[in-house]
Amino acid sequence: MNKLGFGFLRLPQSGEAIDYSLLNTMVDTFLSHGGTYFDTAYTYGDGQSEIAIRESLVKRHARESFCLADKLPSWKVNAYEDCRQYFEEQLERCGVTFFDVYLLHWLNHDNYQICEKYNEFAFLRELKAAGKAKKIGFSYHDNAALLDTILTDHPEVDIVQLQINYLDWDSAAIEAGNCYRVAEKHGKSVVVMEPVKGGTLAKLPPEAEAIFREIHPDQSMASWALRFVQSLPQVEVVLSGMNTMQQLLDNLQDVSPLNAEEQAAVQRASAIITAQTAIPCTGCRYCESYCPKHIAIPDYFAMYNEVCRYPNDDWKIQPVYNAFVQQHGKASDCVGCKSCERHCPQHISIADHLTQVAKVFER
Ligand code: SF4
Ligand code: SF4
Repeated sequence: MNKLGFGFLRLPQSGEAIDYSLLNTMVDTFLSHGGTYFDTAYTYGDGQSEIAIRESLVKRHARESFCLADKLPSWKVNAYEDCRQYFEEQLERCGVTFFDVYLLHWLNHDNYQICEKYNEFAFLRELKAAGKAKKIGFSYHDNAALLDTILTDHPEVDIVQLQINYLDWDSAAIEAGNCYRVAEKHGKSVVVMEPVKGGTLAKLPPEAEAIFREIHPDQSMASWALRFVQSLPQVEVVLSGMNTMQQLLDNLQDVSPLNAEEQAAVQRASAIITAQTAIPCTGCRYCESYCPKHIAIPDYFAMYNEVCRYPNDDWKIQPVYNAFVQQHGKASDCVGCKSCERHCPQHISIADHLTQVAKVFER
């Protein structure tokens, strides 16, 4: 069974606007292939994601034909009543009267303190009791020990949304494997985010790609990443942020659990990719708006990774960097305030890495 969920974080664009013609076709195709789960959040696209849910999904399909998950911006809450105000605004933006799944967005050490201070879990329980949220939970970006604490303190949650992919499975920073095992221990359903690590696992270094091609010449690299997470029994939904029809159709193909030979291939490919990825940025862009210097952080990291992986291509990348700095701050404009780093789910030392970027592109 395909556990694919439609993530509304990265939507198809036409210039600066959402390409509704393509998005509508993708939503219809997803539903006609048996998909039901859609995921959005208050902060995605500065609210445009929730509006896109209303326009592309809710207005065009029967409410009982899909399952809608939304998230409270847990860190923006300053009083219990704020939770209700956000929730009501979200219902209105999405054009619905209830959510099938409602999550506290982005729990980590700091945000968990805010949630506890303002009783955000009590708000979730209230919603569930009133039928306004069928299932409740949280999305999570911190270590396995804290996850264990939260799930022990709050056995009422039904679902945890975790970043899981084969590259992060044994990562000391993300602890995807350990977090999964904690969720499993507590008997929670797992919704997976970033299964393809922001597209990183869709385009692999040639040596890693060759390992997979030797076994299945025709399968895409992304399909290996999706099969890895779909093989995990506690996983109920695998979110993919798709912005082309080709990605959607590829993701909708049948998925069977990885066998022992395929698991071994994933391990070998993962080791190669890790060795060749200088900065593990997923391109989520959560950091960007917090930078007072308007530095195009994820774009510069992508360029830097490309140059590290293909040193002979630096002549192609340098003009792209030069064009970017006409519109954004340069890497060397970074003042080291680190306000970006507090919002990076990958725990990347952004300021330090920008120093490296500047050394390469601002010689
Ligand atoms: S540390 Fe650098 S990149 Fe990060 S917000 Fe501050 S100036 Fe911007
Ligand atoms: S640096 Fe971190 S927050 Fe910024 S785009 Fe990359 S992964 Fe996302």
